[in-house]
Amino acid sequence: MPPFLFTGSRRTCVQAGSQVTLRSRRDRETRSVATPAKPLPRSIAARLARLLLAAVLAGILFALAAWAWRQPFLERPRALWELSRMPPPSSLPVPVQGVAPGQIAATFGAPRGADREHAGIDIFAARGTPVSSTTRGVVLSIRERGLGGRQVWVLGPAGERHYYAHLDDWSPALAEGDVILPGTRIGTVGNTGNARTTPPHLHYGIYGEDGALDPLPRMRAAR
Ligand SMILES: [Zn+2]
Repeated sequence: MPPFLFTGSRRTCVQAGSQVTLRSRRDRETRSVATPAKPLPRSIAARLARLLLAAVLAGILFALAAWAWRQPFLERPRALWELSRMPPPSSLPVPVQGVAPGQIAATFGAPRGADREHAGIDIFAARGTPVSSTTRGVVLSIRERGLGGRQVWVLGPAGERHYYAHLDDWSPALAEGDVILPGTRIGTVGNTGNARTTPPHLHYGIYGEDGALDPLPRMRAAR
């Protein structure tokens, strides 16, 4: 390779470097004369460092949130969030132990007195027969009042509320706010409330956004 070519290109580099140096020094002089009080803009390196720091902090916060979301103290908000995103179940088990869907009368919507309709179904069984939740859910209320007597309300998938009424007793392990699963014991069949003159049975109702829904078709859909 001829040596002058190498020398030539090297000189060009040196010259180019000098030009850059000269130009930038002149720029600095011009700027300092034009705006003497203004601080210099942050360098790109400082901006990158800030961006990197922000990204690291965001990563740490995200990891903390992901960790906290799995902890037991956030079980209820997590369950409520997951339940709200679930579709309404198309099939449901019978909540009373030992009863088949075919044994349940289709009385949803039947007249009850002069101004009321039956807003659920009645599942007859011996007093004390176990009653279990049909769905995953969060226990909204455990109380004794009005027509339903001893009752439990469970918030299930898709915002539907499940109503278990006329219970003889509640499951001692159950508490309001509990996150429960299908099959979790709720109580036992009884005839509390306005059922006290009838044989023991569970009144079971489902309430959606637009009111009462018939649970029986979903039980018949269950295999
Ligand atoms: Zn009923």
